[in-house]
Amino acid sequence: MKDKRLQKLGELHRKHKDIITLMPLQTGGLLTEAAKKALIEFGDGYSVCDFCAGNLSNIANPPIREFVHEFLPEFLGCEVAAVTHGAREAKFMIMHSLARLGDSIIVDGNRHYTTIVAAQRAGLNVVEVPSSGYPGFTIDVNEYEPLIEKHHPRMILLTYPDGNYGNIPDAKRLGEIAQNHDVPFILNGAYAVGRMPVNMDELGADFIIGSGHKSMASAGPCGVLGMKKRWEEVVLRKSETYSNKELELLGCALRGVPVVTLMASFPYVVERVHDWDEQVLKAQWFSDEVEKLGFKQLGEKPHRHDLLHFETLMLYEISKRVRERGYFLYKELKDRGIWGLQPGLARAFKLSTFAASREQLSFVVDSFKSILSKYG
Ligand SMILES: *Cc1c(COP(=O)(O)O)cnc(C)c1O
Repeated sequence: MKDKRLQKLGELHRKHKDIITLMPLQTGGLLTEAAKKALIEFGDGYSVCDFCAGNLSNIANPPIREFVHEFLPEFLGCEVAAVTHGAREAKFMIMHSLARLGDSIIVDGNRHYTTIVAAQRAGLNVVEVPSSGYPGFTIDVNEYEPLIEKHHPRMILLTYPDGNYGNIPDAKRLGEIAQNHDVPFILNGAYAVGRMPVNMDELGADFIIGSGHKSMASAGPCGVLGMKKRWEEVVLRKSETYSNKELELLGCALRGVPVVTLMASFPYVVERVHDWDEQVLKAQWFSDEVEKLGFKQLGEKPHRHDLLHFETLMLYEISKRVRERGYFLYKELKDRGIWGLQPGLARAFKLSTFAASREQLSFVVDSFKSILSKYG
């Protein structure tokens, strides 16, 4: 190699074998064995395009057509589906195609940052429904109604659940409000689709969004977008020049690995959402156990999602008197094979119980216990 600086790029490693991962971003995106196989098989660039006749979602081999037009709509409870580069791209597609510059959108105060940047890129004016604040941070969807009457938004969006507290707001009620006011309703299910049962039609939404790499056991970046038939002509409209090419997808979205891993994991994902009750019980049990140690769980209680946010003032006190500061916690956990709290945080942090077994979570609880007594 001529340029020695480049050498490290050819030797990339990630030491993640046999660790317990609690990182909310990653617990729902861990690949199945089927997806790992597909990842290698289809790793070459443009690998899904062997038999493409001009439109990605009509490719029969691999069976993208069946996946997009049959399996996904059934799974999402919608009439029309598409695959996208991620949840944020799906949000932007909808906003960009429905709204005009300067239109308003009403969103919940727990919205993800990508909702804001997508809206800004589309030139929208964002109005927020505030949460109840500390410690529950809940969203009362009834508060959308006066704001809809005041601002006449082009669309409304609900984060279900949000990525900070894992709160699950009353989407069905908001679906009724949206229908009464005839305003398109986007359900952002980046932390729902692929983890828990969620059905667009039952909730009365116009659009549902999922994230493949967040919650559907995929390499990504990829996402799914479901909608009512009436929006197909708007959001998935084709180029006047190229009648096969959706404008909002710039003609073609997932050109290889992302869509193949999404499909390879899909049979497993369809099954795992049926285990959701056990996932919730596991999260609640974990929350109870660490609250016994003095942690305070923020967000809804009892909790109804694997994403948990804890305030841990005693860990914060320790961080103030140790050399590593907040990093002591990260280091202590990592030494025990536990990964996923944001490095440097000790006062409050998020974690997800989705990928860990109860046995592993018991070990996590015991580890917190021993860290507390070590520094106590
Ligand atoms: C992670 C997340 C996103 C972004 O998902 P991408 O697929 O990476 O774009 C959007 N919204 C919420 C609520 C999220 O948690």
